[in-house]
Parts: sequence; C-alpha cells; structure tokens
Amino acid sequence: MSLKLPSIDEVTTINRDGSHYFLHPADVSGRFTVARRVFALLLIGLYAALPWISVNGFPAVFLDVRQRSFHLFGFTFAPQDLWLGFFAITGLGFSLFYATALFGRLWCGWACPYTVFLEHVYRRVERWIDGDAPERRRLEAAPWTPKKTLRRVAKHGLYGAISLIIAHVFMSYFVSLPRLWSMMADRPGDHLLAFGIVMFLTFALYGAFAWFREQFCIILCPYGRIQSALTDENTMVIGYDTVRGEPRGVRGRGGSTGAGDCINCLRCVQVCPTGIDIRNGLQLECVGCANCVDACDAVMQRLGRPTGLVRYASMNALAGKPTAWLRPRVYLYTALLIMGLLALGFSLTRLRPFQLTFVRLPGAAYYVDPSNNVIRNQFQVRLINKRMQPQTFVITLEGAPAGTTLSGPEPHFQLGPQEQRIVVTTVEIPRASYRGHQPLALRITSEPGAQSSVKKFEFTGPDPRLLDESFLQP
Ligand code: SF4
Ligand code: SF4
Repeated sequence: MSLKLPSIDEVTTINRDGSHYFLHPADVSGRFTVARRVFALLLIGLYAALPWISVNGFPAVFLDVRQRSFHLFGFTFAPQDLWLGFFAITGLGFSLFYATALFGRLWCGWACPYTVFLEHVYRRVERWIDGDAPERRRLEAAPWTPKKTLRRVAKHGLYGAISLIIAHVFMSYFVSLPRLWSMMADRPGDHLLAFGIVMFLTFALYGAFAWFREQFCIILCPYGRIQSALTDENTMVIGYDTVRGEPRGVRGRGGSTGAGDCINCLRCVQVCPTGIDIRNGLQLECVGCANCVDACDAVMQRLGRPTGLVRYASMNALAGKPTAWLRPRVYLYTALLIMGLLALGFSLTRLRPFQLTFVRLPGAAYYVDPSNNVIRNQFQVRLINKRMQPQTFVITLEGAPAGTTLSGPEPHFQLGPQEQRIVVTTVEIPRASYRGHQPLALRITSEPGAQSSVKKFEFTGPDPRLLDESFLQP
C-alpha cells in the first residue's frame, strides 16, 4: 500500500467511494516537533492534575453539579451566577478570533485537546505497536495473520484503556476525585448515570481517536470552518515559499538547471497528519501543526540550503510583500477582547456567596406617621444563600441620621444551604432628624468570609418646609 498523493480537488482522507482512507503520517523531528511535544505533555499533565490541586478548599476545577456549585481556581459560582458564563464564553470566543487573526490555526496545531490527544497519545501508541509509516501501511494491506491480529488487539486494547482513563479524569471534574474513587469501588449499578456517562465518553473517545481521527478537524469542527472568515493575507500561517521553491526539481547531474529549492521529495506530504500538500497553498484541512516545516527544514539542511522553504509566515510575506500586523480586524478584536476582559474582571469583583435584591415596595413612596412623628419608607429585601453551607448575615444601615430605625429582618440571621428569604423592611427617620430626601445604604455582610454587598438608595419624604408641626402632633 503506497502513499496516496493529495489533490487540491479532493479530501485525501475520503476515498472516491466515500470510505475513510487511513492516513499514516511519517515520523518527523525538529524544533517545532519537540516544542509541540513538550507543550502537549504540559497540557496533558495539567488536565490530569487539575482535580488534584486544591484552591480555597476545593479542586482547582470542580463543576459540582450535584451540589449546584461550580469551583474555578478559587472562585465559587452558584447557578445564579451563570450569567457570568456569557462573559467567559464571549471572552474565549474573542480570544480565539484575536489569536486566529494574528497567528492562524495556532490553537488547532498546538493546544486543541483533540489534536493533543490524537497526535501525542493515540498516534504514539500506534507508532509504538505498529512501527513507522511504511510498516503501518504494509500491515494494513497485509492479510490477517496471528501476528497482525495480536498487534491489532494490543493497539485497540490500549486505545480503549486510554479512553477509559481520559473519561474517568473528565468525570472527576464533576464529582471530585475522592467521590470518583468511592464510586469506582462500588458496583456500576449503584451509580448508573455516572457509569453510563463514563462508558459513553469512553466509546466516543475510542471511536474518535481510533477511527474518525483527523476527519473531525476536516469535516466537523466549526472552528476549522470559520477560520477562513477570520484570517487574511497578513495572518501568520504555515505556507510554502513558491517564489523560492518553484519550479520543483533536482538541480545539476541531469536535473534541471533552473530548478527552485523544492526537490519534490514529498517529505512535507508524508508527515502531514491531514494528508494535504502544503505546496498547493493554504487549505482548510491544514491544522497548523508545523510537521511540514520541520520535515522540509531537515531536507534543506541535508542539501545545504537555507531552511524556511515551508515556514510560519503571512501569505503577503510568502509573496514578497510586507506583513501588516496592525490592521482593522486586529484593532476590532483587541477592543472586543479588552472590553470582554474588563467586563469579566468587574463581574468577578462583584461575585458574592449570596444574592441580594433590594427594591422599594410599590405604592406610596413614603408615609408620614403623625402618631409617632416619623417618616417611613418601605422596601423588600430578598436574600439567597448561594452556598451549600449555612451562612449568617449581618444587616446594617449606613448614612442614617440619629434615631433612624430599621425593622423587618433581625440584625443577625441565618440562612440554610441555598435558602431564600424575602422580608419587608421598614426604615423610619424621626421628624426631628428629617432634612428631606437623603441617600442611605443598606449593607449585608456574610459570615464567614465577611463579604459585603451594599445597596444605595434614597430615603424619600415630603419637603421638610411643608411639614406642619401641628399636622404631626395629633
Ligand atoms: S500542511 Fe503542514 S502544518 Fe498543515 S496540517 Fe499538514 S503538516 Fe501540519
Ligand atoms: S519537503 Fe520541502 S523540498 Fe520536499 S517536497 Fe516538501 S517543500 Fe519540497
């Protein structure tokens, strides 16, 4: 079975009859390969370590669906805080737009979990068991023998085991490690839902990485589809220097005297994990992995020619024109990114372990009570304890003149886990202290943690000059 040569008019990994053509990318080494491998190991290590790292008494990332609280790097979110997800998702989206406008599909080639697991885990296992690319192709074309069966069983068994581990680590983000251990010690029937999710994930991962592979990036991933709208001629991509490389061919010793630097050795094609020929120009299938850069650099080094025939560059740079780094779309994405980050940062500073709503009661804005010489305003306080532990709340009034009273809620009161309390609150200012409309503030402080929320409001009443003493004195 020989290497299938890519064509710009076809998807290499889909045969004409619609079946899946299995790629066997050749081994490659070089500076980008090493850097990507190190980075991938760091990312995989981070994925495995996050459930073990404790921040503020919780795992660094713990999406505790059962208790309806979500812990992210020391911040705790309740379902009432889900609106913050809007900023997080749009922030991530703008970051991706920004990075793509500047650096193309850097995310795909270097940091996407799918690429990381496929290239640095599953393909490594395949390389280890089935050998290098030519050996793998031979094995695929060979008839079934005990040796081939044994290799296939070993490979797919390992794929299954790795998928099971990844699925369990994923599950620990939702149930925490100690609970995951205890669930694993029980019978599957005792935790049917969790067991079903882990099994589903395992089969999905196995199917994706053992069979579907690069097809996900080529056919399914929406980011791959929208990248053409996010990039332009100034975006840094991986490209082939046509000016320098063409016409392809071997120089001297019977070769063409006018040949460019590309010797048409096809190394860049052999190492491509999506089966394309980068010399055909920027293509949707390119995930920016830089394998072809390292492969071609090695060829150039062997020939004693400058490296960089295939390199990170903008399409303008490859065409010999200057690259404009700062351009309208970069300004726009930068502005959106900064706005999103500011909004998220501000929202995080407002995050409290409780939710306070403080509104004036409908009806008359104030009431002058002649029976005890006071002006009265009434409000509704709604307080929700967002935590799964009880919390004590202290309620105080700030900026009030002498003799002002606050009635309704007790100064100290406790709410149980995720309990809500709605109470009518009355603020009364004695006639003698009343000087007209004045700003006041209601402060609620939670214990433990001493986190406060302040609601400023205006105490309303009649014009003091119009208040008739005789009216107030019954
Ligand atoms: S063309 Fe190069 S950078 Fe793009 S996917 Fe193939 S090997 Fe990776
Ligand atoms: S590896 Fe370099 S020299 Fe070989 S075919 Fe690709 S671009 Fe040409």
